[in-house]
Amino acid sequence: MPRGLAMSVFNRLLVGTLPLVPRFIVGRVAARYVAGATLEDALRVVGELNRQGAMATIDLLGEEVSERDKALAAVDEYLRVFAAIQERGLDSNVSIKLTLLGLKVDEGFCRDNVATVAAAARSRGNFVRIDMEDSSCTDATLRIYRELQARHGNLGVVLQAYMRRTLGDVAELPREGANVRLCKGIYVEPRRIAWKGYDTVRANFVRALEKLIEAGVYPAIATHDEYLAAAATALIDRHGLRRDRYEFQMLLGVDQELREILIAAGHRLRVYVPYGRDWYPYSIRRLRENPEVARHVLRALIARR
Ligand SMILES: Cc1cc2nc3c(=O)[nH]c(=O)nc-3n(C[C@H](O)[C@H](O)[C@H](O)COP(=O)(O)OP(=O)(O)OC[C@H]3O[C@@H](n4cnc5c(N)ncnc54)[C@H](O)[C@@H]3O)c2cc1C
Repeated sequence: MPRGLAMSVFNRLLVGTLPLVPRFIVGRVAARYVAGATLEDALRVVGELNRQGAMATIDLLGEEVSERDKALAAVDEYLRVFAAIQERGLDSNVSIKLTLLGLKVDEGFCRDNVATVAAAARSRGNFVRIDMEDSSCTDATLRIYRELQARHGNLGVVLQAYMRRTLGDVAELPREGANVRLCKGIYVEPRRIAWKGYDTVRANFVRALEKLIEAGVYPAIATHDEYLAAAATALIDRHGLRRDRYEFQMLLGVDQELREILIAAGHRLRVYVPYGRDWYPYSIRRLRENPEVARHVLRALIARR
């Protein structure tokens, strides 16, 4: 078997068995996707990104919380994040995960927590992006977004191009001041509700982006797929969007070259900067998407000897 083909087969096999890879290897290989364990680490990375001409969104790692105390601790941490962003004059907003803020404990409890975060953001002139998690959260996420956006006006949400429902969700977004991050989607969903073909998801991404633009929504175009970056810039030109009416978004540790190309072309670009001690589930998701995960894992294993 040619070496390239063998590696890609090995990649696919490894992705299926990533949960069996020792935690310290995952940590070592995924380190580039995470700013560090502390808020100070995140602030340092955001400062560097700002100097490189990129904006940021800070994400406190953690999800699927089942205890109220943990959700409340996350709210407190986000309040510290907003204070630090303002004190240091950084160009960053925040991203939150509803299952970290207690969605699986109780929807009302979670909504109150998000309201606290949104109010703190508003008092400092900042903005809160609600990440989209797996399909068990979609309806509640959109409900909480609609209700709190109507009240606070400084929230955004995420739609996933792999979901069959997404074009319908675009049509139902509130008209005023909507701000939507569009991404492909990362969770493993059944085919019944999610498109599976690589090109199908791309096509749905482009259709959803065009609908968002036509509806006057501020789109945050979250992708490292060069094809989609090119399709998005074509749509931006065709619709004559001003530079301050959209942004690109990319993840920390992924394709810095594409990031620099987009910034050099004059587009605004925001980098997602996760930090915290609960790095494992996020890192596994990132490694699953890394086309060279096998090479990195093998290298980390060899370096250990
Ligand atoms: C800012 C941001 C926020 C996001 N928020 C959400 C969210 O709220 N909900 C959600 O479901 N998903 C979210 N995602 C993840 C998203 O859904 C995709 O899973 C992810 O972006 C990969 O899709 P892609 O468009 O980059 O295309 P892909 O086809 O996956 O990647 C295109 C190319 O990018 C490179 N690449 C991609 N990922 C990696 C990686 N991990 N390591 C190394 N190279 C890589 C590879 O060269 C690959 O060929 C977010 C993504 C971004 C950029």
